[in-house]
Amino acid sequence: MYYGQLAQVYDAIEKASGSLEKIDLFAEILKEAEVEDVDKIVVLTIGKLHPDWKGEPEIGIAEKMAVQVVATAAGIHETVVLEQLRKSGDIGVTAEELLAGSVQETLFAEEPTIAHVYNTLNTVARASGSGSNKEKIANLVGLVTDGTPLEAKYILRTVTGQLRLGLGDMGIIDALAVAFTGSRDSRPEIERAYNFCSDIGRVACLLADVGIEAIREVKAKVGTPIRMMAAKKLSDPAEIMEKTGARALVEYKYDGERVQIHKSGNEVILFSRRQEQITNQYPDVVQLVQSNVIANDCILEAECVAINPETGTMRPFQELMRRRRKTDIMATMKEVPVALFFFDVLFVDGVDLTSLPMLERRKKLEKVVSLDARVSLTVGEVTEDPERLDAIFMEALGTGHEGVIAKAVHKDSIYQAGSRSWLWIKLKASYKEGMSDSVDLVIVGAFHGRGKRTGVYGAILASVYDDDSDTFPTVCKIGTGFTDEMLEEFKARLDEHLIESRNPKVVSDIKPDVWFEPVEVIEVLGDEITISPIHPAGRGRVLGSDGGLAIRFPRFTGRWRDDKGPTQATTVSDFLEAFEKQALRFSDSS
Ligand code: ATP
Repeated sequence: MYYGQLAQVYDAIEKASGSLEKIDLFAEILKEAEVEDVDKIVVLTIGKLHPDWKGEPEIGIAEKMAVQVVATAAGIHETVVLEQLRKSGDIGVTAEELLAGSVQETLFAEEPTIAHVYNTLNTVARASGSGSNKEKIANLVGLVTDGTPLEAKYILRTVTGQLRLGLGDMGIIDALAVAFTGSRDSRPEIERAYNFCSDIGRVACLLADVGIEAIREVKAKVGTPIRMMAAKKLSDPAEIMEKTGARALVEYKYDGERVQIHKSGNEVILFSRRQEQITNQYPDVVQLVQSNVIANDCILEAECVAINPETGTMRPFQELMRRRRKTDIMATMKEVPVALFFFDVLFVDGVDLTSLPMLERRKKLEKVVSLDARVSLTVGEVTEDPERLDAIFMEALGTGHEGVIAKAVHKDSIYQAGSRSWLWIKLKASYKEGMSDSVDLVIVGAFHGRGKRTGVYGAILASVYDDDSDTFPTVCKIGTGFTDEMLEEFKARLDEHLIESRNPKVVSDIKPDVWFEPVEVIEVLGDEITISPIHPAGRGRVLGSDGGLAIRFPRFTGRWRDDKGPTQATTVSDFLEAFEKQALRFSDSS
């Protein structure tokens, strides 16, 4: 199939307003494509050539290089491209306009196929070392000049991570269901397979090549990360007990980094919450697993917590994150030693345990982990009594934990990969104060500081994630509560992600002084969620209002969520749910 056909479908999807229409358009091209192109179409549309966990090089071209590509392809000076980019705010549109007016338009060499585009982008991604920038530019110029201006528009958007079609992972799964099974009914099965293999390209390939039967066969496999189960949040112990089914395993919530541990013989791989391989950061964890996990092949989950080497007491999450940033792993390993608290088991010696109820998994976990000073199971107790839950919560806080997680124990209390359901409910101290919880926001822009803050950013513009439309609508401007160190750190970290104009996935009515690629995630606390005429998050979905939702008096907690990717930030749906709960609370008390 030619890339031109895909570019035309992108164009139609972009113009379509409803998500169902977008899904149907995408399903059509998946149906028309040859089997070997289907996975390539899917990964190009997601904008990632490989799943994160494979650790393969990705495209990610900086805007500066994209400008060079357009200038060379159109045979014009970079300043012309930059000027046009400032006006349109979109590198794709800029490329389309400038190439349409250039001579190259009539000189199409060979129409690029989907496979050719995919392979070229892979070559670009893999180019490294001296001279690699030239090679990248040459390859991209080749692609862009071989195709039409419309193709150039979408290629440029794809390589800069700005392909904004309004189709998130879930939209693509819907389209796969429609294309290869005729209806959305099979979506849960496809989603399940995706949660277990964490590779949407593979899911697409299996569906196109074999069909839904192959999807049903996808199982947990050591070495392939399983998308993690997450917890909902509530503040009332009685309500928590009711939601978990009147009986729950109430565990301390440890303040560390979640690791999914894959062990095969002596080989150990550690995956983070965002499914990146973090094995190299934790050689000590690898050793602990080798010495304390009894099963030969298994997949386990644990919280990895920084500890004080002298006293053995737990240290905060920020301390642990030092392990992520430092390059001298061996030295930081001594400064920030860790302990492991195991809380789940998903697979042991050929047997998938994810569909067993919680307490059966816990029993199995007790058998496969041998305990010592550095390796424990999470502390927990089964109870039916909300008062006891509250007492465990107080104990947890008193012993330096973040709160508790209440886990359902009924017969359907499976490990629900990739979902945030009522099977796990977290309760943290912050839920009892003001706004019901901290939120994890994506930084999208900033304002220059004045006076004492000259030279650093004075305020940050932040967004939630909208997983329906795959966009980042803003929810607040954060300008207070920063220490000088925090301001320095913002400047240093964020300047790596500076871009000329707003990333098209960012939705904002406010124009900050500078824009960033939406990649950095921070934790923010606020007083409450309010309806806002300025912030677009949830606009059109707030009952009885045309406004969006915003955070009142937001403040940075000091916690960079390096363990989360931008699409794992708080979602618009979470935010709307929290707003509705809050509205209920206010009307209850009035
Ligand atoms: P938070 O910001 O509250 O940590 P999150 O969005 O990172 O939440 P959730 O899945 O909502 O993640 O909350 C569960 C997280 O709590 C897990 O990812 C894990 O890292 C951590 N955790 C700590 N103790 C436990 C425990 N006993 N059982 C399960 N998860 C635990």
